[in-house]
Amino acid sequence: MTRVMIFIDGSWLYRSLPQLALACSKDGYVIDYGKLPGTLGDELGKRLGRTDADIVRTHLFGSYPSNYDEQDEPVARGTADFFNLLREEFHYEVDLFAVDFGGNRIRPRDRDPDHPFEPKEKCVDVALATSLVYYATVPHAYDVAIVVIGDRDYTPALQQVRRLGKRVAVASIRGCCARELSDPVDRERVKDVDIIWLNDLAEVLELRYESVLRECQSPHHQGDRRVPTTYRPRKNRPFYCNDCRRVFSEQRRAAEMLLTVVPETGGGEDPQGGEVSGKVDKLLLDNGYGFVRAEDGRQYFFHRTDVQNDDWPKLAIGDPISFVIRHWPANNKAGRCSDVRRVGSDTQGRVDDESAPGYPDPSARP
Ligand SMILES: [Zn+2]
Repeated sequence: MTRVMIFIDGSWLYRSLPQLALACSKDGYVIDYGKLPGTLGDELGKRLGRTDADIVRTHLFGSYPSNYDEQDEPVARGTADFFNLLREEFHYEVDLFAVDFGGNRIRPRDRDPDHPFEPKEKCVDVALATSLVYYATVPHAYDVAIVVIGDRDYTPALQQVRRLGKRVAVASIRGCCARELSDPVDRERVKDVDIIWLNDLAEVLELRYESVLRECQSPHHQGDRRVPTTYRPRKNRPFYCNDCRRVFSEQRRAAEMLLTVVPETGGGEDPQGGEVSGKVDKLLLDNGYGFVRAEDGRQYFFHRTDVQNDDWPKLAIGDPISFVIRHWPANNKAGRCSDVRRVGSDTQGRVDDESAPGYPDPSARP
């Protein structure tokens, strides 16, 4: 058995995906991270002339935004959700490092061109290199490391791992790979087998949306619950059909119009985002809205998708709960709150809603 560990520079891979899209001549190309470890293992097997590769672990190193413009909350949530998907669905070991956006927008296209700002990524490459060398010194941790990288900064770490008697395979993307890594003569002595080009595997690695019949779990679903869909819900998350999702978001929009509150100006400090205790005060079951009363007597509303752990159907008036204040109450209207949690219920998991897709939607790339 050949024990294999995979080390992925997630930031580099994400930046380099457009090159894979080119290889497939496809706009909106999305890589299937579930297929990546196995496909790399197969390619390694071809190069080693044996098929007993045992992928013992897949490490991905990446970064997440911090201190960003608050409008970008959904973008940041999408990023966090993606990394959770890698952990939950595919058992990746994900190591993340904060990138300080200094209050700026996350996406370059949303930033003011007159005030250029370039976020600085920290630690990702050093963390990968350290981990690679560390496991090389742990007896029997791995025999072969597959590194999914493109930068020449990794050269010393790859050389060191090889001096420790471990083999190295480099997987990279043509057009995004340093010459030192791709050199067929390997003057830098960084690898033991021919480079694995992901461009050649782009078709195999593409995330495909196959249509299957799934059961809609919305209590308001009309007709046959089994509907054809290409949507893949996340593990342990409910599936709602498109019709139910549409009704859901229309109700949400309508109710939010009714309940929109203007945050108090000059009246006390902004909500700090900490957890607050209270009790369920009122439930509008048809609209999917609820109200809570905090211990200080102030009232806040929330949508069913703000309730954690799928606990919305279990909520009853008077239940003790915790929540996070989004807007203070003002002008005799309730404030807005989210992250509603029944006190004493499991804290794992989050309710799916139409803005938190299970898999990346190819029509809405981050
Ligand atoms: Zn439905």
